[in-house]
Amino acid sequence: MTANERERTQLFIGGSWRASSSSEMTSVISPSTEQIFGVAPSGGTADVDAAVDAAREALRNSAWARMDGAQRAQWMRRLADELEAIGDRTAALVSGSNGMPISVAKVAEGKGPATTLRYYADLAEVTATEERRASANGKRTTVVRREPIGVVAAVVPWNFPQSLTMFKVAPALAAGCTVVVKPAPETALDAFALADAADACGFPPGVLNVITGGRDVGAYLVAHPGVDKVAFTGSTAAGRAIGEVCGRLLRPVTLELGGKSAAIVLDDADLVQVARGLSWASLLNNGQTCYLSTRILAPRRRYDEVVDAVAELASSMRLGDPLDPATQMGPVVSRSQRERVEGLIEAGRREGARVVAGGGRPERLPVGWYVEPTVLADLKPQATPVREEIFGPVLVVLPYDGLDEAVRLANDSEYGLGGTIWTRDVEQGLELARRVETGSVGINFFDLDIGAPFGGVKSSGIGRELGPEGLSSYTSLKSIYLPT
Ligand code: NAD
Repeated sequence: MTANERERTQLFIGGSWRASSSSEMTSVISPSTEQIFGVAPSGGTADVDAAVDAAREALRNSAWARMDGAQRAQWMRRLADELEAIGDRTAALVSGSNGMPISVAKVAEGKGPATTLRYYADLAEVTATEERRASANGKRTTVVRREPIGVVAAVVPWNFPQSLTMFKVAPALAAGCTVVVKPAPETALDAFALADAADACGFPPGVLNVITGGRDVGAYLVAHPGVDKVAFTGSTAAGRAIGEVCGRLLRPVTLELGGKSAAIVLDDADLVQVARGLSWASLLNNGQTCYLSTRILAPRRRYDEVVDAVAELASSMRLGDPLDPATQMGPVVSRSQRERVEGLIEAGRREGARVVAGGGRPERLPVGWYVEPTVLADLKPQATPVREEIFGPVLVVLPYDGLDEAVRLANDSEYGLGGTIWTRDVEQGLELARRVETGSVGINFFDLDIGAPFGGVKSSGIGRELGPEGLSSYTSLKSIYLPT
């Protein structure tokens, strides 16, 4: 992490560094010190115009447009090498900007993007662009082509900025698309790691463009006439707004949105293992991870035991400076996010919650937007903290009677993104997993598999990222009918 990396004055458009059309700068505030961590251009709509133009030009008229999958794969591997080389510095930028514990950031944000790029480079190499098949009537031949869908607008949130950017950029490059990346203002600094890496390896100009801006710039980008596909991760509210725009424009869009996933603890579960697993599956990144199992469902017979185990886990988490390797939980991203989280804890108290862990700010950390890991018991399934995504370190524990009720409670949510099942009997867990209305479920752990589709049902989104399935949303199919 150097001073230059924390003081960005230019955007990366068309393969070169350019001043933003707006002279304004936005500060990135450290959630642990509440001081300015760095600055980046605020960005403006003219930057969007320039970046989309550069991406269209590269799509139509550059060497990139003429490359096959194997050639693109070589470029992607070069980019992965560059990203990996600066990975630890990028991870520190992420931690400093959003409060993610550095031990998590080094893996998810420092190393993860290179791994995802290499995975899609391998796919680019082996995925055929054209397939010849006999026509259904057996008389002719049809060539089915997978063409790049075009210019992709990648709009990303602050919580896992590097990995979520790469979930979009890697399949887009594999498919032969060009991309305009717009990070969240909270994590504008680390976004330029991709631009640095592209610059360092001489990536074909215009294929990757990194601009900055807030909601207005994002809205202008997704509606831009030069964009062919939108890939968005963020809140359900913003996802709905983007979905409406894309619907009107008939523009393909993938939306990865919020969640309120369930952890179903079965009667036979080993609670020591459950508590260890939930530290990751329910509290990762200070509770600011979309797929977390934040509703813990416990069999009534073992309800008190589960409440105690989860409370003990929450109370044992080491809170502190996100840049300290020993820290397990840092602050939440912003003052307003902490106010929102505290408001939801208060709503829980009013609605009858027994606060069995946390519930306030840690006394020994008076500076920084810290929230104690909090566990709320005895709430009704209709209570506000049971229904709303909190996006902070707050868990609720509810009792259930019988597996049917466990499934009913798990599915009693506006969302359907992740989820976990905790049992000694993996087959029984699998049987139950089939009944949960969600995009992904882990049995005795939760860890994204980049080789399998990820996304949500209901208000958690539309479409899937990752795996070979994630590649298909960056291609457009064309059928060419041959006379014989
Ligand atoms: P947000 O929706 O406010 O912002 C996300 C990004 O979209 C930012 O870059 C923002 O500038 C931009 N944006 C906001 N409104 C826009 C609009 N109308 N048009 C275009 N761009 C717009 O979300 P956030 O607060 O940064 O992120 C937290 C949310 O993201 C949580 O709800 C979380 O669950 C969700 N999330 C989902 C996933 C997933 O894969 N499903 C992953 C991570 C986070």
